[in-house]
Amino acid sequence: MTERLTGHTLLIGLMAYPIRHSMSPTMHNEAFAKLGLDYAYLAFEVENEQLKDAVQAIRALGLRGSNVSMPNKQEIIQYLDEVSPEAQLIGAVNTVTNKDAKGHLVGYNTDGIGAMEALKDEGVEVKDAIITLTGAGGAGTAVAVQAAFDGAKEIRIFNINDGVFENAKETAKKINEHTACVATATDLSDQEAFKKSIAESSIYIDATGAGMKPLEDVSLIEDPSMIRSDLVVFDVVYSPRETKLLKFAKEQGAKKAINGLGMMLYQGAAAFKLFTDEDMPVSYIKELLF
Ligand code: NAD
Repeated sequence: MTERLTGHTLLIGLMAYPIRHSMSPTMHNEAFAKLGLDYAYLAFEVENEQLKDAVQAIRALGLRGSNVSMPNKQEIIQYLDEVSPEAQLIGAVNTVTNKDAKGHLVGYNTDGIGAMEALKDEGVEVKDAIITLTGAGGAGTAVAVQAAFDGAKEIRIFNINDGVFENAKETAKKINEHTACVATATDLSDQEAFKKSIAESSIYIDATGAGMKPLEDVSLIEDPSMIRSDLVVFDVVYSPRETKLLKFAKEQGAKKAINGLGMMLYQGAAAFKLFTDEDMPVSYIKELLF
């Protein structure tokens, strides 16, 4: 690393809290080294209180960009100069670019792109698909909006009746207004509707974090027989690699049982492209880190 960092090295940040556990710095720095790009990627513990100053620092210090994660993904929008159409619809940004250090900051959301690329990587076609999606938080909204942009026929969002349910309804409304996809939002407690929806879908995506601590014993599909051999099951969780849902999917012989690692990799690859205009060497990174 000391050989690689010079007075010319350009900095990319990651602003979130907590963030020390993130794989992103390793992923990006390994990719820079592999391609011989003179960039460094560092994580900064930034909460909402410091965000305005941190964004100003991107401009003042000439960072070439930054990733953004919780709790800053929505909050950051007010401090940016421009926001991409998909990030506007999602209402959250996870990537900010500062092209040529000119101080004009543009926000993007690559989470949904990452999820769609992860499906494509497994040979799964989203176009014209009927998708059942649980979760309408940050990840779920990004997945729903990007799937709609990518030509999904229907997205049926199910959410528990918590504070996020309103966002599920709002997201469905926005998708119906801005894309050709038909979206609905339904209370997950309507288990009959959920079962019927899964039966009519070719893809089921869980974007709730069920299956991950502290919900490691939870699968929102409680009855494994709902999983058919022609159903693709995609869980955005990557720790653990195999959630209870994915275990069910494998046992039932689902068409695919996909965890969140690919989504993580490809959201990073899309950000990498925005920062550097270069393609991340994804096969190399996959082999190295996954
Ligand atoms: P969030 O808090 O914004 O949303 C959580 C969602 O889960 C909401 O829809 C909420 O209503 C629902 N939920 C919460 N508890 C539930 C329960 N007991 N039963 C059913 N639904 C429940 O969180 P987020 O930022 O959207 O993250 C969700 C998950 O996605 C996390 O596990 C996160 O690690 C993962 N994630 C993965 C990637 C990736 O690259 N693979 C990217 C982003 C997020």
